[in-house]
Amino acid sequence: MSGTENQSIGCTVQQCQYHSGQSNYCTLDKINVGTHEQNPTVVECTDCQSFKLKM
Ligand code: SF4
Repeated sequence: MSGTENQSIGCTVQQCQYHSGQSNYCTLDKINVGTHEQNPTVVECTDCQSFKLKM
């Protein structure tokens, strides 16, 4: 997907449908970030829960 980049949300996950494509930004107005851990301690514990696999 190629849309208008949101310069407030940097992202390098090019496999996501909402990635801007040309630059490392998300195209959504808002994203949700969460965790898959009970007690997150490092950056790897956090997830973008707005991720959707690009078709
Ligand atoms: S929804 Fe999340 S993973 Fe997808 S482009 Fe936006 S910030 Fe990146």
